[in-house]
Amino acid sequence: MHTNHATTVKAFGTHASNQPLAPMAITRGALHADDVQIDISYCGVCHSDLHTARNEWNNTLYPSVPGHEIVGRVVAIGVQVTQFKTGDLVGVGCMVDSCGHCPPCHEGEEQYCDNGFTGTYNGPLFGGENTHGGYAQSIVVKEAFVLRISHAEKDLAGVAPLLCAGITTYSPLRHWGVGPGKKVGIVGLGGLCHMGVKLAHAMGAQVVLFTTSPTKVADGLRLGADEVCISTDPEQLARLAGQLDFILNTVAAPHQLDTYLQLLKRDGTMTLVGAPAEPHPSPNVFGLILKRRSLAGSLIGGIRETQEMLDFCAAHGIVSDIEMIPIQAINTAFDRMLKSDVRYRFVIDMASLNNPT
Ligand code: NAP
Ligand code: ZN
Repeated sequence: MHTNHATTVKAFGTHASNQPLAPMAITRGALHADDVQIDISYCGVCHSDLHTARNEWNNTLYPSVPGHEIVGRVVAIGVQVTQFKTGDLVGVGCMVDSCGHCPPCHEGEEQYCDNGFTGTYNGPLFGGENTHGGYAQSIVVKEAFVLRISHAEKDLAGVAPLLCAGITTYSPLRHWGVGPGKKVGIVGLGGLCHMGVKLAHAMGAQVVLFTTSPTKVADGLRLGADEVCISTDPEQLARLAGQLDFILNTVAAPHQLDTYLQLLKRDGTMTLVGAPAEPHPSPNVFGLILKRRSLAGSLIGGIRETQEMLDFCAAHGIVSDIEMIPIQAINTAFDRMLKSDVRYRFVIDMASLNNPT
C-alpha cells in the first residue's frame, strides 16, 4: 500500500512512567520522496526500552512507544529512493535521522551528531518532537537510516536484536582493536553481552564472560566464551587479575567498576555501554593510574558500521538467541528482564498486534 498522507497504525506504548504498556493508535508521517515505508515483522526488546518507558533517564516524552530493533519488509518507497524496493527485507536501529552536515555525520558516526541525532523513539536527543518506535505495525524512515538484511528470511527474528545489541557491542570491539591475540572480557550476560560474546569470538579474540548468574555458565560457553567467570566469586576474579586487554561492560545496574578494572593489563581499557539510571560508585583512581588503564564509554554505532556489522553477522552465520513473545506479554517481559531472566533477547512477533487483547 502506497501512502502519501499520514496514516494511523496499531502500536503498544505507555502514557506515564508508572503505567504498563497497552494498545494505542499512533500516526506515521506521509511518505516523502526519500522515505521507505516498512511493515514491521519483529522488534527486539532492549533494556533501553524499559529505561525509557519508565522514565529512568528522566527524559521520556509521552506517549512513549519503544522499540529500536526493527526488522520487516519494504511496502512502499518515495520517488527518490534508489537503494531499496518493495519486498526487500530491511532493518531500522536506534536512529532515524541526524543533521547530516557536522563532522561526526560526515565521518559516518551519526550517533555522535553535534546537533543531536533523532532517536527511533523518544525524539531528538536535544529537543524537538517525539518519535515512536518499533512496537508498532509499520514505520516510515528516511532511506539513509534503513539497513539492508542479507540473512535468510527464516532467520529474520534473530536478526532484529543485531540492530541495537549487535551494533552496540560490535562498534567498541572494533574501535578498541579486538581480534586474534587479544584477551577480552564481556560483562553481564543479557542481550548486549550475548552478542558481544558471539562477535568477539567471531573476531578471533579469546573471550572471558563475566556473569553474576551461575545458571548461565553452560550457555556462556555455548555462545562462544573460552572461559566463564562468576563475578561474585573473589577467587575466580583473582585468577584473572591483570590479564585482559579490553573489557566491554554491558551491566544495566550500578556496581563496583573496580571489580573489573583490576583485571586489565597495563594500558588496558574498560568500555561502558550499560546505562544504569543511578551512577556507579566511583572507581579507585590508583587502579587506573598505576597501570595507565582507561575507563571509556561507547554509544551504539553509525549507519555505515551497522551495515558492516549486519554483513559480518550474515557472513559468519550469527543471529541473536531469542525468546519470541506476543506483544501482549511485553510487561511480563520487562519484569523478567529486570530479574536478568532473559535468554538472551525477547523479540516481539508483530503479527500479535492483531490478537484480541
Ligand atoms: P539486559 O538484557 O537486561 O542485560 C543486562 C545484564 O546485566 C543482566 O542480564 C545481568 O547479567 C547483568 N546485571 C543486571 N543487574 C545486575 C546487577 N545488579 N549487578 C550485576 N549484574 C547485573 O540488558 P541489555 O538490553 O543487554 O542492556 C544493557 C544496558 O545497556 C542497559 O542499561 C541499556 O540501556 C544499555 N544500552 C546501551 C547502549 C549504548 O549505546 N551504550 C545501547 C543499548 C543498550 P548476569 O545475569 O550475567 O549477571
Ligand atoms: Zn537498545
